[in-house]
Amino acid sequence: MPPIGARVRVPVGTREVIGCVVAHGGTFEEGKPVRDILAVLDESPYLPEPVVRLCQWVADYYMAGIGDTISAAMPPGAHRKSAIRTRRVITATVHGVSAVESQSAELTVRQREVLTVLASTPAGLSASVLRERGGSAEVVRRMVAKGLLVIRDEQHERDPFEGAVMPAEPDSGRRVLTTEQDGACRTLEGLLDEQRFRVALLHGVTGSGKTEIYLQAARHTLQKGRQTLILVPEIALTPSVSSRFRAAFGTRVAIQHSGLSDGERHDQWQRIHRGEVDVVVGTRSAVFTPLPNPGLIVVDEEHDGSYKQEESPRYHGRDVAIVRAQASHALIVLGSATPSMESYQNAVTGKYVHIALERRVLDRPLAEVRLVNMREEYAECGPDVVISRALVEAIDTRLTKGEQVLVLLNRRGYSTAVLCRQCGDYFECPNCSVSLTVHRAHSRWRARCHYCNYTVIVPTSCRKCAAPYLEQTGFGTERVEEQLKERFPSARISRIDRDSIRAKGALTTRLSQFAAGEIDIIVGTQMIAKGHDFPRVTLVGVVSADVGLGLADFRAAERTFQLLTQVAGRAGRGEQAGEAIVQTLYPDHYSIEVARRQDYPAFFEKEINYRRGMRYPPVVALINTVVRGRQFEEAMQLATDVVARLSSAAESGRFQILGPAPAPLGKLRGEHRVQFFLKGTRRADMRNALKEVLLAMPEARRRITVDVDPLTVL
Ligand code: ADP
Ligand code: ZN
Repeated sequence: MPPIGARVRVPVGTREVIGCVVAHGGTFEEGKPVRDILAVLDESPYLPEPVVRLCQWVADYYMAGIGDTISAAMPPGAHRKSAIRTRRVITATVHGVSAVESQSAELTVRQREVLTVLASTPAGLSASVLRERGGSAEVVRRMVAKGLLVIRDEQHERDPFEGAVMPAEPDSGRRVLTTEQDGACRTLEGLLDEQRFRVALLHGVTGSGKTEIYLQAARHTLQKGRQTLILVPEIALTPSVSSRFRAAFGTRVAIQHSGLSDGERHDQWQRIHRGEVDVVVGTRSAVFTPLPNPGLIVVDEEHDGSYKQEESPRYHGRDVAIVRAQASHALIVLGSATPSMESYQNAVTGKYVHIALERRVLDRPLAEVRLVNMREEYAECGPDVVISRALVEAIDTRLTKGEQVLVLLNRRGYSTAVLCRQCGDYFECPNCSVSLTVHRAHSRWRARCHYCNYTVIVPTSCRKCAAPYLEQTGFGTERVEEQLKERFPSARISRIDRDSIRAKGALTTRLSQFAAGEIDIIVGTQMIAKGHDFPRVTLVGVVSADVGLGLADFRAAERTFQLLTQVAGRAGRGEQAGEAIVQTLYPDHYSIEVARRQDYPAFFEKEINYRRGMRYPPVVALINTVVRGRQFEEAMQLATDVVARLSSAAESGRFQILGPAPAPLGKLRGEHRVQFFLKGTRRADMRNALKEVLLAMPEARRRITVDVDPLTVL
């Protein structure tokens, strides 16, 4: 019998797929024939048994399929032709696009319709949405055979690792630790000596030298004969962590990034499995790494939203890491300058060991943060101001001194909306309820949906009333870049956002150019706020601190506070003191005011009171259920039905149901969305009730997305 965790080839329907043994025996669905395994691919477990058990926990807790979960735990290439369900996305081929553009006579009317839709949606559409547009399965099949369309799995397209690691800096050896660092190390070593499950929150201001502490703790773990797992939000964005580990542990450290081929990754996997690696540094999916005996798990920047996977299984890497640490009797260290409300709450109540680092290394001061009230700026300089006088002046001063500048605007594109001044028509995405963002590339203006990638060329007149009065409103990073180039023509300016770093390795290249002093100013989205250590940056400008504040999301203030504190933390990490200039319409908003003072405890006090008052996490647990439908009524009907079935369980007083109501993002990729929340203190009760109801309606299940502990509720 193949062991648990071994890969096997099995028949599913008429296909053969590769799967993973998760249990022996067990129960089978009534009436379904039991079929034999065709071949056993591994004599010994490919996934260690503890990892299989972790996957089972994830599938259960997050209400995801075990197939999706095992798939998330496997390295790419390990389950080619796998049984794992992925979202099928259909896109037009180059051949298909040119056939429709040249009005090829070989196309049927149907085929032309399908290609027209897909030609303006480069990211493709799901089979169900396409069916609605005339692309039945049969039509699609024929078109694939003719080379007009391709079908691919969305999961393989997405790449969690952006670019590769930064080159390793030569090991500067062990540094003389500061008193605070030394104290933290001793506490952690004491906890490691206990050899049991503990959680520590390492709450250290930006630049307090947390990486050095992780290194020291990893060395201590190695002395105990155990391994260390370091999770980072995005490898390319945390050069100081990955390169320090590589420098200290050489080939005994495995770094997981997309620069590796499937084969190389597979080799790494085997090395880790065999115990030839002492430290693994990776992003959230590395929580499933096959380290035989992890004694220390570090979650760096534990508050970061990238730890949450926004597709099935919708797990939070930090929370899964805690469960893994518990199962491995390991110490887990959550590090951050701006801890999540969840983690800080646990530190305050004594559930976690709280280690605070209040000072930067070498007594470097935190950046001075100055607010610029944009209402006053508009009153004095007109409504078109993007970069305030104070910020322009400060940039000028820094450039003159040969220092570097980061400019943050957490919004991509050139402008964020197009509207007609005559009839008021907004350019909305036909598939999603969002306005299209204008991007400019090679002097061409295109309006694009940031959710489904639907793209059109911006016309010169209104498509509804034909008036030539189209206006672009709202501005994004492209516009900021343009303005800076006009203001500072001799400065070397570069932009970092998801649009500018599409090419593989582009991000790494840009970051190393900046580190080498070949770029003076970087403009970017929240990407530039994460974990960088560029000693020559002395000024950080925030063009609009208010971008996320207006969102109908209870974490809006927390996210704003974290982003501002983190980005301000990029300034003054070297010998020169730093400053941050923050432009805002709401200088009195507490998340902005407290970020100015960089006073985390004050923020926590305010925010926890708000969460208590409104009964939001971490005071209660939340489960978000989104029901999708081609028609709004259809989605609403199903949601109402599910809620009705849940109500008796809720009535017994254990949890509350809020909704159903249209989701803030009412339409997405051609489907209407209705959502409802379960809110309560006993997560298991809510989960069990929901599971029971959904089990009874299997046909509806694929139209329902359940998000346990959601990070965003849009
Ligand atoms: P954090 O992650 O807390 O923001 P880092 O770990 O990136 O901080 O450290 C900030 C900078 O200080 C890095 O350049 C690091 O090499 C340096 N550093 C860390 N500890 C020391 C120390 N004890 N002495 C001198 N420099 C240090
Ligand atoms: Zn869209």
